[in-house]
Amino acid sequence: MTGVQYARPTSTSEAIEALRSDDAARMIAGGTDLMVQMRLGHRRPSLVVDTAGLTELHQLDCGPASVIGAATTLRTMLGEPGLVKQYTALAQSANLLGGRQIQAVATFGGNVCNASPAAETATPLLAYDAEVEIAGPDGVRVVALRDFFTGPGETALARGELLVAFRLPASAGIRRSAYRRLQLRRSVDIAVVSASACVDIVDERIAHARVAIGAVNAVPTIVDEAAAALEGVSMAAADADVRRDAIAVAAAACRSASRPIDDVRASSRYRSAMVEVIVARVLGDVLGVG
Ligand SMILES: Cc1cc2nc3c(=O)[nH]c(=O)nc-3n(C[C@H](O)[C@H](O)[C@H](O)COP(=O)(O)OP(=O)(O)OC[C@H]3O[C@@H](n4cnc5c(N)ncnc54)[C@H](O)[C@@H]3O)c2cc1C
Repeated sequence: MTGVQYARPTSTSEAIEALRSDDAARMIAGGTDLMVQMRLGHRRPSLVVDTAGLTELHQLDCGPASVIGAATTLRTMLGEPGLVKQYTALAQSANLLGGRQIQAVATFGGNVCNASPAAETATPLLAYDAEVEIAGPDGVRVVALRDFFTGPGETALARGELLVAFRLPASAGIRRSAYRRLQLRRSVDIAVVSASACVDIVDERIAHARVAIGAVNAVPTIVDEAAAALEGVSMAAADADVRRDAIAVAAAACRSASRPIDDVRASSRYRSAMVEVIVARVLGDVLGVG
């Protein structure tokens, strides 16, 4: 790790300039992914550009629509009761990521830009239809998060670009969301399968639904067929059986949409079976038929 240059810009334009100046430059936030990768020799940046001095990346605006700066740490989010209440799935995922020490420095931007298929906070953000605000040499552009992941460890960020913030649109009604993951150990571990679901309820019906799966495909994925099985379904107490049937269809759709990875933690066959189980559970949480 010798010979790595360090820059601590105080404006986004300075950061872009630094990133542009060096082919092998990378942003660094908490460093909980990047420093490990550098130590292992998996990434060899010649310049690291710190997010610490970039005010825009630390913005936190909780309203009907919310903005979460890329450099917001998980602990900061978990300390904001308004955000925790409104974004249950995101808070649940943040609570499960690493331990307390990791959560104190790890950021949402770092988790998403690292682009692991198992990135904890990716599926909740997908389920909230999040958009990412990206700043670069050509100005600011906004991209749907579902188009941001281009492969394991790869994103839509071009040279000289950095992630500024996540934009979370307002709910169309009463919002309910949840996150679940399957892990092999009880303590700090990475998900073998994860899933998030979010529904907006209007007049006791599901007006809008989103289901996203993680640690299954090469990138965290929204399953539109699962949402289609849920939209229009009644949330009335008397219709619990209708919701159970819809959950079974949605969970099966997620299994069909999975092209599971095979790795040291689980076979693709196991993941394929488990994604259906985990999606059914997370939807049970959200639709109150657990
Ligand atoms: C002990 C341990 C346990 C962990 N457990 C989990 C877990 O359970 N689940 C999980 O998902 N992860 C886990 N992680 C991984 C890691 O903690 C998370 O992915 C974390 O959110 C990364 O955030 P960071 O701020 O530390 O990112 P960094 O390491 O600083 O950066 C990660 C990547 O994102 C890029 N980046 C960061 N910010 C920006 C930006 N604003 N614009 C453009 N690029 C940017 C960096 O260049 C780098 O490539 C664990 C790590 C450790 C060490």
